[in-house]
Amino acid sequence: MEKPDRKDSRAFLLLALVAVAVAVSPANAAGESAPPELTAARTVYLTFDDGPSPRWTPAVLDVLKRHGARATFFVLGSQLRAHPALARRIVAEGHVLANHTYSHVDLTRVDAEHFADEVEQTQALIRKLSGQDERLLRPPYGAANAHVRLLASRLGYRVVLWDVDPQDWRRPGAAAIARRVLAGARPGKVVLLHDGGGDRSQTVAALRTVLATLDARAYSFRSL
Ligand SMILES: [Zn+2]
Repeated sequence: MEKPDRKDSRAFLLLALVAVAVAVSPANAAGESAPPELTAARTVYLTFDDGPSPRWTPAVLDVLKRHGARATFFVLGSQLRAHPALARRIVAEGHVLANHTYSHVDLTRVDAEHFADEVEQTQALIRKLSGQDERLLRPPYGAANAHVRLLASRLGYRVVLWDVDPQDWRRPGAAAIARRVLAGARPGKVVLLHDGGGDRSQTVAALRTVLATLDARAYSFRSL
């Protein structure tokens, strides 16, 4: 029969082994309990193109609001003119309106005058509806060559593309969209999504999954 003190030391050894196992477990190695200075840098920039749309933008805004998330809406001037109340709601809920041209033109194919017309008309509407004048330009189709960059900089715009493109506009299914966004989501990344230009029910559904998942990983969502 063993002495009690020997039993105690065995129990202690077992506890020590458990403590070591917890310390090197995959959850910790993956940074699930990262210190605050690291979690503070976990920001993802969600962006929504081609709206505002009366059918889909309110649904997107509802999901963002539920998670206290801020985003950037690259709006079309034509949509803005048709739906000014939506633009006001976007701004009232803390998001940023940014420029996606007036009529979704390929800016690599237009001259300086047409370029200014498309971009400045849209920016004037943004200013009027929001008081914001961030001068962020996302060229339709991501078509940003030297010509586009030169004309944009002459007018004082910063060209903003993206890091993560889940191709939501192709409607691959909400699960595929969410999986692609989550696979690319890292601190500082810009995510491209769409709240206009067609049926965006899959995007809205994917957004719920993305925000819930990244919330749990201590990410925050800010405007550009
Ligand atoms: Zn677009």
